[in-house]
Amino acid sequence: MPTISSNKPYRIGRSRTGLGLFATKPIKKGAKIIRYFGPLLDSRKKKDDAIENKYLFELNDRWTIDGSVRKNVARYINHACKPNAESDVKPRKRKVFIRAIKNIEPGEEINYDYGTDYFKAYLKPIGCKCDACEKKRKKKRAEARAERLLLKARELRKAERKVQKEAEKRAQAKPTLKAKKKKPNGVKANGAGLNSPRPNSKPLNGKRLNGHRGKSIAGQTIGVTSGISAPPRDGQAGENQASA
Ligand SMILES: [Zn+2]
Repeated sequence: MPTISSNKPYRIGRSRTGLGLFATKPIKKGAKIIRYFGPLLDSRKKKDDAIENKYLFELNDRWTIDGSVRKNVARYINHACKPNAESDVKPRKRKVFIRAIKNIEPGEEINYDYGTDYFKAYLKPIGCKCDACEKKRKKKRAEARAERLLLKARELRKAERKVQKEAEKRAQAKPTLKAKKKKPNGVKANGAGLNSPRPNSKPLNGKRLNGHRGKSIAGQTIGVTSGISAPPRDGQAGENQASA
């Protein structure tokens, strides 16, 4: 770039948003870096007042610097919400200087706060891309990611607990089911009672057996082994079949 001689402490370079101004030498806090300059626009002149671009620097109610000229290298300086430089405005002299507010190291991008009006008009709609805002965005993204992971882990644990609970339920349910199944198979009253009358349960069995025998054995002897409820129906069916 022909406009920048090598003894200047900055150069134009690629930045996140396009071009930017970067320190090539250490710049001490408080040092003037560069002048922001261009034609002065008088708001009282209609022609001047009609000019509109992103590089207008308002000095006061009347005067504005039109910094859109190529020679104004300071226009390459990008905005930052936490900058390392500031605009030092001298309204009476109608001059603006960019001054370091921190020690700036070679390679660091130089930036200053463009002010709330510019921010609202140009940066807020597209999202400010300065380091501070990018960091904030990154942090938010990381937090969102962590939150998602946490939720996922919680859901996974919940699902695992559910599976475990169901397994426990099944484990608890199995023995009782078997017991229930076994009982009807080895029914006290018919199976054991009929085939082998137990000495200790004689009185009860005797009564029941007698009762059953009275009903089931009355017609047919087959019904005895098949159970309590079956014989009467079998008997009926047999009668029906016999009659038909
Ligand atoms: Zn920002």
